[in-house]
Amino acid sequence: MNIPLIDLKKEYELYGKNIEKAVAEVLQSGSYILGDKVAQFESEIANYLGVKYAAGVANGTDALLLALEALGIGEGDEVITSPFTFFATAEVIAKVGAKPVFVDIEPETYNIDVNKIEEAITNKTKAIIVVHLFGMAAEMDAIMEIASKHRLKVIEDACQAIGTEYKGKRVGGIGDIGCFSFFPTKNLGAFGDGGLIVTNHLEIYEKIYRLRNHGSKEKYIHTSIGMNSRLDEIQAAILLEKLKLLDMFIFKRIVVANKYSQELHHVKRKPPQFTERQHTYHQYCIEVDDRDRLAGFLKQKGIATGIYYPVPLHLQKAFQYLQYKEGDFPVSENASKRILALPINPTITVAEQEYIIKSMKEFAGVLP
Ligand SMILES: *Cc1c(COP(=O)(O)O)cnc(C)c1O
Repeated sequence: MNIPLIDLKKEYELYGKNIEKAVAEVLQSGSYILGDKVAQFESEIANYLGVKYAAGVANGTDALLLALEALGIGEGDEVITSPFTFFATAEVIAKVGAKPVFVDIEPETYNIDVNKIEEAITNKTKAIIVVHLFGMAAEMDAIMEIASKHRLKVIEDACQAIGTEYKGKRVGGIGDIGCFSFFPTKNLGAFGDGGLIVTNHLEIYEKIYRLRNHGSKEKYIHTSIGMNSRLDEIQAAILLEKLKLLDMFIFKRIVVANKYSQELHHVKRKPPQFTERQHTYHQYCIEVDDRDRLAGFLKQKGIATGIYYPVPLHLQKAFQYLQYKEGDFPVSENASKRILALPINPTITVAEQEYIIKSMKEFAGVLP
């Protein structure tokens, strides 16, 4: 057996014909940047996510960057976020000249611990970037309440959580701005880079609409300093096709996750299940004491695993200047030493998953 974490080539076999047709249409159209496909995708995805406005951008990192810029966050401001996320979440805060302020996570969900947010708020705090890590919704009601009490903006980093529901609403549309990535391995992946910003506020949308295209709405008329960060027509055409499959693929991930959770009796720390905070399993992560030995054992068996994330952000060299130290965020540090992602994707077969489960049990010595 040879089981990768995700198999994009195998996935392609499921929908390749439709993608090729959609791409050929764009190639023949002569319109490659900000044309009909981008507009159509923006409208369909806004509808899917239940938001008023959506703007395609070049990638998820730019989505976060433009979100901060649209809110006017920069030099002298502080932005609260989690130290247990992909680097880009905090990178963009520093990039606009603001200061990332980390708050530790909940041990079970790996999302920001709402009980620890208020003690990190100062008179410089302007926003919170909430990450719905691995596809699980963060505790949005409590976060929105804290934000409204302290007059903070909320940006949702939903790059790993497209389609996830929180109390019946899709994440990304709950805070002031939602950001998504279409990096190929994300739950809705393009064939290259892509990203999206969503909001329900017209004023924010208009800013973002201009910022992504050199501060311009009308050709050669520039009302602000922006940049070039656009989703291109080919990726939009591909995403329109793949959006049709998204709910089915999420359902498949949930089925696979439920089977892991049911069968891995001996693993104590598995993703929790809440009725109002959905998990769409971009990653299925467990925690074990002997993580590196287990990963090595599974590798020998031909099973790939992943570590998200081996070094929490406050201990990254790039953030040394913030002067955090080991021990500052013990929950994140502990998770980074124990966490392991098992293969989960829309193309994994029952036989493959049973082999993974059997191998896990063999390692733990709990085979019947
Ligand atoms: C993937 C990801 C990003 C960045 O998206 P890109 O499209 O790769 O720039 C940001 N935040 C999180 C949580 C991500 O998983």
